[in-house]
Amino acid sequence: MSQIIGFPRIGENRELKRALESFWAGKISQNELEKVAKELRAKHWAEQKELENVCVNDFSFYDNVLDLAYALGAKPARFQHLSGLEGYFAMARGHKDGQACAMTKWFNTNYHFVVPELSSSDTYKVNASAIIDQYKEAKALGYKPKIALVGLFTFVALSTITQGEFAEVFDAVKSAYFTLLDELAKLDSSVLIEFSEPIFTRGVDERFYHLIKPTYDAIANKGIKAVVTSFFEHSNEASEILLESKIYGLGLDFVYGEKNTQILPALAKSDKLLFAGVIDGRNIWIADLESKLALLEQIATHIPKERVIISSSCSLLHAPYSKSAETKIDSEILSWLSFGLDKVQELLVLDALFKAPSDEARAKLTHNQALIAARKSSCKIHDSAIKARLESTLKTARDESFAARIKAQRAALAYPNLATTTIGSFPQTQEIRTLRLGYKKGAISKEQYDDGIKAYIKDCIAFQEEIGLDVLVHGEPERNDMVEYFGEQMKGFVFSQNAWVQSYGSRCVKPPIIYGDVSRPKAMTLEWITYAQSLTTKLVKGMLTGPVTILNWSFVRDDVPRSVVCKQIALGIADEIDDLQKAGIKIIQVDEAAFKEGYPLRAENIAEYESWALECFKLATAIAESSTQIHTHMCYSEFNDIIKTIEALDADVISIETARSGNRLLQVFKEVGYTHEIGPGVYDIHSPRIPSVEELEGQIRALLEVLPKEQLWINPDCGLKTRKWEEVKPSLANLVKATKNVLHTLQ
Ligand code: GLN
Ligand code: ZN
Repeated sequence: MSQIIGFPRIGENRELKRALESFWAGKISQNELEKVAKELRAKHWAEQKELENVCVNDFSFYDNVLDLAYALGAKPARFQHLSGLEGYFAMARGHKDGQACAMTKWFNTNYHFVVPELSSSDTYKVNASAIIDQYKEAKALGYKPKIALVGLFTFVALSTITQGEFAEVFDAVKSAYFTLLDELAKLDSSVLIEFSEPIFTRGVDERFYHLIKPTYDAIANKGIKAVVTSFFEHSNEASEILLESKIYGLGLDFVYGEKNTQILPALAKSDKLLFAGVIDGRNIWIADLESKLALLEQIATHIPKERVIISSSCSLLHAPYSKSAETKIDSEILSWLSFGLDKVQELLVLDALFKAPSDEARAKLTHNQALIAARKSSCKIHDSAIKARLESTLKTARDESFAARIKAQRAALAYPNLATTTIGSFPQTQEIRTLRLGYKKGAISKEQYDDGIKAYIKDCIAFQEEIGLDVLVHGEPERNDMVEYFGEQMKGFVFSQNAWVQSYGSRCVKPPIIYGDVSRPKAMTLEWITYAQSLTTKLVKGMLTGPVTILNWSFVRDDVPRSVVCKQIALGIADEIDDLQKAGIKIIQVDEAAFKEGYPLRAENIAEYESWALECFKLATAIAESSTQIHTHMCYSEFNDIIKTIEALDADVISIETARSGNRLLQVFKEVGYTHEIGPGVYDIHSPRIPSVEELEGQIRALLEVLPKEQLWINPDCGLKTRKWEEVKPSLANLVKATKNVLHTLQ
């Protein structure tokens, strides 16, 4: 038997995205939106029909955590008066009556969930109808449904508790959750529910570990066949407890949680089924069926095969839908890729091979073995030059200490205290998008394209000079995306046409695919940066994306460690920095927007990640001469846990996202005696609001309460590409004015 934990819901051609955006724009009715949803569900179930069951309630108009909050009636007070889709989308996207709930990353994926707000004074009004309707829909179509539900522990642990103690809130939510389950239990005799409990991979949480057994016992007592599944890591602490409970099955990730095998002897002694997650649900490479089979046989030395159900490691939500639209990827590389639909097939073949091998399944195994062997030895993935370079002695530290460097930089660059700058991108106008697209499609010549980009850069520089910013940027008009732009110019990357995965709501991303050894054949940014510098006597900052961010926002090959791939990228970035400094660029920013995203879920693995991620950043930047100033930028505000690592990056200047938290989050830099320069964002670029001079002065003064003027830079929170010129122009002009006013009072 085989199954999956969830299916990609956005649709083969992002039909759900289109329908949602049309609905939000008032172009289609709720009925029309629901019709699209129903058709998608039917189509997705049809793709799962050969599996043991089809997933119900993995579908969502926005996010599954939000779905559960809504089904429980856990609405923040500001939206209590709203109902139906209006209330639902208010929580997701905001409403005239109140701000949206926060959104944050789903564990270590690039999927974002809506963070529920819970309070001990809430009264819950449960409404199970959405789940019940979908269950009936699947049954009416003749399928055997399994309900996918976010587990109670994961739900509460991921929520923000706005009032009251954890225990109090947990009890209130539990009773609502149980009411919901009572409704679901009526659907069938022993309805099958797979409870997603990825929170268990984080290890013991004293707040709720003692509650796991009684809670799941009570759930099983409702006559529900409860499968409790964790993913993205091992969850041995919780598994031990769950084996003592009355649950029906335990779902474990054997792709990212190798240590889950440690629980097998204990599991063997219990009566539970094992839902063995062996097909990678979140990467895109074909499975090595022979080794998967070996793993399953090892599992079978403990647990009888009838008790093993073969599953995906996590929901296929994190994988693209199908390869059918990929006409441009090299056919050999394409043969190594496995998207959602292929993964379902892999599960079926594996199941046949494991239980009752048919000739057909054997033939598929042989074919798979041939592909795996071909991939291993393909000249497309091996580059001996880069391998040799990695083996050589590499420079991983700047020549001089920060104290010596900053002296040289201050002398050479002569920028003032509270120097003003931006994070890199300027508004991406429709015009510039059309230009890039036209050039890509061949409708626009290279000359026309270059002229268009140059015109943008020229305007951008002129504007920055006019308002008096200290360090200028070229505005990034040539970049569609900060990772794609670099990936497209490096060897070892390939780009799909349709491998979209949901990031949040209707937003999808199409991550680059790193299939082979990475190298940089020639300069990637030199032309535009030096052009920008040629237009002004002020300093122009060169703009690069860092190796860790490029890695964390890509689908990465699984045949070598991530650290090795990251090092290869780092060497390419180092070469780029060297080209820029040789061409007279004195300040270079290496963006590490996704540095924090790669952090492992388990505390015991953090040191290892930090050590190689740090090494890669240093490998990329160590080439900078003492007088070349290295900036980095991170889209975060919480640095408490990682401040030592941030310090160790040894970037001369770091800009961070702090506008929404005033000077509170800056304290940690002071506490650890951070000496390098910092540009805390003084206004929030995620909103169209134009900050006034007074407000910005207030922000700057608040920063000065924590750190001295010699250490501070003044800049917005993040890049400005999503904003409009009408917003950016006055905002930046006010930023410069406010800085001057403050400086004036300090003299
Ligand atoms: N330089 C990039 C920009 O300004 C940085 C964006 C980011 O960190 N997300 O767009
Ligand atoms: Zn940012």
